[in-house]
Amino acid sequence: MVIDCHCHAGKGDYMTAPWNTDAPIEPYLRRARAAGIDKTVVFGPFHSDYTKANAQVARIVAKYPRRLIGFAFVHAARDAGRIFAMVERAVKEWHFRGIKLHGYQAMPTREVCEVARAFSLPLLADVVGRAEVVDMLAPQYPDVTFIIPHLGSFADDWRAHQRVIDQLVRYPNVYADTSAVRRFDYLVEAVKRAGARKILYGSDGPWLHPGLELHKIRLLGLPPAEEALIAGGNALRLLREVKVGEAAADVPRPARRYSYEERCPVGSAIETRLPPAAEAEYEL
Ligand SMILES: [Zn+2]
Repeated sequence: MVIDCHCHAGKGDYMTAPWNTDAPIEPYLRRARAAGIDKTVVFGPFHSDYTKANAQVARIVAKYPRRLIGFAFVHAARDAGRIFAMVERAVKEWHFRGIKLHGYQAMPTREVCEVARAFSLPLLADVVGRAEVVDMLAPQYPDVTFIIPHLGSFADDWRAHQRVIDQLVRYPNVYADTSAVRRFDYLVEAVKRAGARKILYGSDGPWLHPGLELHKIRLLGLPPAEEALIAGGNALRLLREVKVGEAAADVPRPARRYSYEERCPVGSAIETRLPPAAEAEYEL
C-alpha cells in the first residue's frame, strides 16, 4: 500500500502565498490515483484559525473517506490552552490520526507534546531548518512519535538535513518524511544510516506533484521490502496504532495548568516574549 503522509487540503484565509491561499484536493487526487497512491494524510494550509481549517479538512475527508486520513493542525502559541479540545474533537468526531504543527508559526510546546502523548498521535512538526529543537523534543517525549517533514528543511538547508539524519539514527521516536527534499543524496544517506523503517514517503501536495515525489522513492533502488516500508508500510504501522472515535473515548484530559515557562515553544528566545502578567491566564 502506498501512503502519502504529507498533503494539504482546503482553503487558507490569507492570500499572500500559495501555501496559505488554496490547496485544492481534486487535482491532487487525480494525480495521486494515476501514480498508484492508495491513501493520503491531509491537513489544512496555513490559516488564521485552525478550528475552522480542521473542520474544513474534516468535510473533505468525509467526501473521500477511503483515500484521505486527517491530521489536526494546531498553532502551539495561538491555540495554547485549547490544544486538547481541538485534538479531542478531531480524533473522536472526525477520526483524525495525527497532529500537524508548523514551526514557522510556533514550535511545539509541552502542551502539544502532552496532547499527542495522551492520544498516542504522531506529531508531524515542521522545524523550518531548526533541527536543534528535535534534540529537546525527542528525549523529553520518548513515547511521542515525531515526524520531521522535508528531512528538516523545505528550503534546502543541507545542514538541517545532516542533523535530522543524525537524529533519525539516535532517537527511536524520530522519523522524517521525504517531501520536497531536492538533494537526493541526503535521502540515500538517511536510508543508509537510519534504515528504511525511519523514512516516510510524503509529497507536500497539492503544490508538489505526488507522482514526482513518489518517483524519488523508486529511484533509491532499494530492495522491495525496504521500498514498501517507505512508500507506505511505515505510515500504516504508525497510523494503525492510533485509537479514534469510540476507541478514544476514555483518553483522560491532562488536568494541569501550564506555567509561563512551560508555554514557551521549544527553541524560542524566552527573553523576547511578553512578561507573564501581560499574557492572559488560561487553564487546559
Ligand atoms: Zn506541507
